[in-house]
Order: sequence, then C-alpha cells, then structure tokens
Amino acid sequence: MNRENDASVPILDLRRAFGEIRGEVRAAVDRVFDTQAFILGREVRTFEEHMEAYLELPEGGAAVGCASGSDALLLALMALNIQPGDEVITTPYTFFATASAITRLGAVPVFADIDPDTYNVSLADVERKITPKTKVFLPVHLFGQMVPQEKIAPLLKERGIKIVEDAAQAFGSWRKVEGRIVRAGTMGDVGCTSFFPTKNLGGCGDGGMMVTSDPELAARLRKLRVHGEGSTYFHEEVGLNSRLDALQAAILDVKLPHLEEWNEERRSLASFYRLCFESRGLTGEGKLRLPVELEGNYHIYHQYVIRTPLRDELMAWLEERKIATRVYYPLPLHLQPCFAFLGGKAGDFPESERLSREALALPVFPGLRPEEQERLADAVAEFARSRF
Ligand SMILES: *Cc1c(COP(=O)(O)O)cnc(C)c1O
Repeated sequence: MNRENDASVPILDLRRAFGEIRGEVRAAVDRVFDTQAFILGREVRTFEEHMEAYLELPEGGAAVGCASGSDALLLALMALNIQPGDEVITTPYTFFATASAITRLGAVPVFADIDPDTYNVSLADVERKITPKTKVFLPVHLFGQMVPQEKIAPLLKERGIKIVEDAAQAFGSWRKVEGRIVRAGTMGDVGCTSFFPTKNLGGCGDGGMMVTSDPELAARLRKLRVHGEGSTYFHEEVGLNSRLDALQAAILDVKLPHLEEWNEERRSLASFYRLCFESRGLTGEGKLRLPVELEGNYHIYHQYVIRTPLRDELMAWLEERKIATRVYYPLPLHLQPCFAFLGGKAGDFPESERLSREALALPVFPGLRPEEQERLADAVAEFARSRF
C-alpha cells in the first residue's frame, strides 16, 4: 500500500479552510480583546448589517444575532406568539432542535413526510396536515437546498399561517422564483440560521441569527433576546438571555466574504462525486442514489448525502479503510423517546423512516481533495463488486 492509501479521509477538517484566513481572524480577535467589549455592541451590529446587505433585505428588514440556531428558532416562534396547543407543521427528518423549539413553548409539532429525492418535507403532505390550529409552517432546508415553499405560501397566507424557515444548513443557498433569486431565510416571516462551527458559515463557538423583512417582528426579536427588556432593567415581557458574542461576530464577519467561494467549492465537490460514481458504474437501480438538486435550486451541499439499502455495511466497509462517513439522521423525530407523548409510531412516515436506514453522508468541505474523493469512490467500487 502506498502512503496515500494509508492516510485517513476525514468527514470534516475545518483547519483546511482556516489556513486561508488565519491572519484576518487573528486581527479580528485582537481588535475585540483590545476593546474588552464582549457581548452584542458594535461588532455584532456591523456583522448584522453585512448580513442584511448580503441577503438584500428590504428597507426595515433586519438581521438579529442570538446565541444559537436553536435559540433563533425558539425566539422566532415566541415573536409570533405561539401558545400551548398551537400546531406547527414541520419535517420529522431534521436535527432535533427544529422540533424541540416547538415543544418548549407547549406547542405541538405536526409532522409531514419527506420527498425521497430531495429529503425535504413534501408540500403535498404539509397541505394534508393543515388544521384550524395550525399557526406556523416550519420548513427545514435540509443538507443545503431549499424547500420550494413559494408553491404553498399563498394557501398558508389565506389561512393566516406564518412561515419560520430553518436555514441552519442552507445559509447562502437560494432558489429562483419567477426569475428572481430568493435566498434561504428570506422567503418566510422569519428565517433562522446557526453559526455552529460545522455549518457552511460557522463561528468559533455557538451563535445564531434571525432575519425578517418586518420591522415590528425585528423589534420584537431584539427585545426577546435580552430578557424582554424595553429599557435597561424594565421588562415588558419574559424573553431569553440569547445574545451573540462580539468575538463570534468579528470572526463571522471575516468569514462572510468567503462564503460564496466556499459554497461554490462544495458544489464542485458534489459534481466530482457524481462523476466518480457514474464513471465507475455505481449509480442506478439497486445501486447508489445520489442527491437530487431540485429545478431552480442552488444547493450548497452542507452535507452530501447518498442513499443505499446497504448503508450500514458500506459505512463499515469504508470505516475499515479509514474513510469517515456519518449518518444524518438515524432516528426520525416522531420515533424519539422524548416525543413519545405525541403518539408517533413506526410506519407513520415511511419515507423518513426508509431514509433514516439508507442515508449516508460523505465528506464534503472546503479543502477536501480530489484524490480523497477518488479513494472513496474506489473503495465503494470495490464494495460494489461483491455486493451490488
Ligand atoms: C444546526 C441546526 C440547528 C441548530 O443550531 P445550533 O446553533 O446548533 O443550535 C437547527 N436546525 C438544523 C436543521 C440544524 O442543522
């Protein structure tokens, strides 16, 4: 075996992209330490303004930083006055925080099954789940591509149902709607994102953000993130302590101008995977199913997730060859023990349940090398010779 085949292929290595910006990040950190102002303040407002410009929010629209993506979802639902018993329609195939934000408020997550190609919520099923108690639709733009929510928006509006987007995995992705580019997070009433270090725009700790085009909602979100404070020590309502750190904001502000180039790189890596798998005859009936980019979508491949019924065997095979993969997500939310009180049972969401047995996320991150992708594809081909 040569040296190359000995090295491991990581699922993610943040050090590779950090190399390019090390100097700028150091300078930003020094600047914050020199001021000794660590919470909210000028650094956070500057970053919020840059996010507003990047997203091309209309006049009066705002980006509001907070402590995490999970808090962003919770604050968004609070700002929309979600009450115990209210229903929020979302997908069972997502990260836990999407649904826990709903149950935290005593509201009820009502799940709709997914589309087996895009892994995103099926709008036809969402429509079937609407009741007089539905207050919010919470689409998750999973793995980096948007839900085509404009198709259902008029119906929701008619019923007074708001939209809160979970764009934690899709910040920087967009969709063409009637010839116009609409960015993830800007299509609904509130868009939420996360700056968890592994996200496409990740900080050096926890962080999150809410965006809205509605000035009243923006003001409410700003108040809720500081304990519902109107003016110092005068509380108009009970909010959270959920602020973005100056240090995070300063570092994220260094990274924001690189986001498009990093997302482009992820797209190239995705194309190269397709080429590698197709040229080795690994796709098609009974073989690998590759991720599908919906017409009009600019997918930013937060994760590159393939499907195969032999997922567990393939994962073990790659692991033996020191190639790391991950499973997002092994158990859909309706089957999680903490949500048993909702009455979900196996068979309720067949597409989500099947995907949880078949999905395998491959390494995809800025700095991943073509030889690493080829090594992975060769290992899959070797597996396929005995198994497909
Ligand atoms: C990461 C993530 C969140 C939560 O973000 P945190 O910043 O980790 O709290 C919410 N929803 C989805 C889909 C995520 O991937």
